[in-house]
Amino acid sequence: METQPTASHFIDGTFLEDPEGQDFESSYPATGAVIARLTAASAATVDKAVAAARAAQPGWAATSPAERGRILRRAADLMRARNRELSELETLDTGKPLQETLVADAASGADCLEYFGALAAGLTGEHIDLGGGPGGSFAYTRREPLGVCAGIGAWNYPIQVASWKAAPALACGTAMIFKPSETTPLTALKLAEILIEAGLPKGVFNVVQGAGATGALLTGHPGVDKVSVTGSVPTGRKVMAAASDGLKHVTLELGGKSPIIVFEDADIENAIGGAMLGNFYSSGQICSNGTRVFVHRAIKERFLERLKQRTETIILGDPMDENTQMGPVVTRAQFDKVLGYIETGSSEGGRLVTGGAASGDGLFVQPTVFADVTDGMTIAQEEIFGPVMCVLDFEEEDEVVARANATQFGLAAGVFTKDLSRGHRVVGRLEAGTCWINAYNLTPIEMPFGGVKHSGIGRENGHAAIQHYTQMKAVYVEMGNVDSPY
Ligand code: NDP
Repeated sequence: METQPTASHFIDGTFLEDPEGQDFESSYPATGAVIARLTAASAATVDKAVAAARAAQPGWAATSPAERGRILRRAADLMRARNRELSELETLDTGKPLQETLVADAASGADCLEYFGALAAGLTGEHIDLGGGPGGSFAYTRREPLGVCAGIGAWNYPIQVASWKAAPALACGTAMIFKPSETTPLTALKLAEILIEAGLPKGVFNVVQGAGATGALLTGHPGVDKVSVTGSVPTGRKVMAAASDGLKHVTLELGGKSPIIVFEDADIENAIGGAMLGNFYSSGQICSNGTRVFVHRAIKERFLERLKQRTETIILGDPMDENTQMGPVVTRAQFDKVLGYIETGSSEGGRLVTGGAASGDGLFVQPTVFADVTDGMTIAQEEIFGPVMCVLDFEEEDEVVARANATQFGLAAGVFTKDLSRGHRVVGRLEAGTCWINAYNLTPIEMPFGGVKHSGIGRENGHAAIQHYTQMKAVYVEMGNVDSPY
């Protein structure tokens, strides 16, 4: 499969290289083979991208919302038509199995383009009656584009994250410069290609490559009005600090250590399925994973026995084989970090139920379950971002809610119970931006997604995303004379 892109950057409708930029490589995590060589954007290239976005944005904002929507929906169709090619590229760049990328990456990106494409023409303000009956004064609000937004992505869902940011921004008439993670630089360039083919005017969506330094150049750039980043909490802090100078808007989609609570009346097989989905999909490299699984003491041993059996059937191996259910983790650094946490889990007293080691050559880590985990252990406190599930036990509802909330994070939470009033009551008490009852990690585009506390600010997807890519203008309309004391 051809993976070398035409050039590293996409600015003003053109692929280009940066002769001043530092070289970097992208490699296939399953074998370590280099799949593409690129250059990072220098400050001059970032300036060029910002200038292109600024020049294109007014024209894009003046394009009718219906036409903006048509372009996004055409892009969704083009992305679906190229799903296999994009999925294979995503698998090469991330190491995630094709079985997943075929259904969860470009597919979610296409859903997002389609959803915001449909919403574009439905953007409305409100009319506010100020009294005086018919002919009286009134006010109205307009949702206006935010100008130029920098989108910065993580490596776990490259084309999905790029689409989740680009689609609402473009629907609202906002222009974007997107910087993918330097670990997974390839599919954002494909998104740019698709958007241009769908009819997006040049300069409205641009891609620059590079690591954190390029992200920082974008965040601090005076020509950028908003920054939307998906990444770790430390990066979120840096972005917010850098954005404060220009008082830029920020959307932060950050990390988590989310709880899944399994009550004694839960459908155990469903709860195990949810917990496995929320810990092992994408080799556990998902921000919203429910890595603290609280299981009621009455069902704990039964839960663990079946969880062990089912976990040991997971097929680990060649990501390009469509039967493979789990691939490697993304980089050597991530691999060392995950194995380090497994060692710490054992040394701090966690009971290893299954897994706990590397598998074969390459960056493969066995799906791992620890039981008897207590709240203070490192593996119950820190985001591992690998296939490591921690099972804790509990007795009472109040107790488990307090323990579930006792972390700096607040991205997601899941509750498994057949008692729906308990389900609603408990999610109402959980400090999390995204919750599931009797399911986990399902993120349809219609549903807003994001965190509270240190897990983030703002929401992606759903109608809620619109307010993060527009700003409100309120207009007072006087129908009589100004009531002035002068
Ligand atoms: P990082 O925080 O390391 O990086 C995220 C992005 O920010 C990358 O493109 C990175 O560049 C860039 N970046 C790094 N430093 C800066 C800076 N100072 N200014 C601007 N940009 C910068 O996260 P990872 O890529 O390692 O992704 C894993 C993390 O992302 C986990 O914590 C995970 O929970 C979180 N995440 C959150 C999601 C959510 O929706 N809440 C979804 C997916 C992941 P580069 O890496 O190229 O150096």
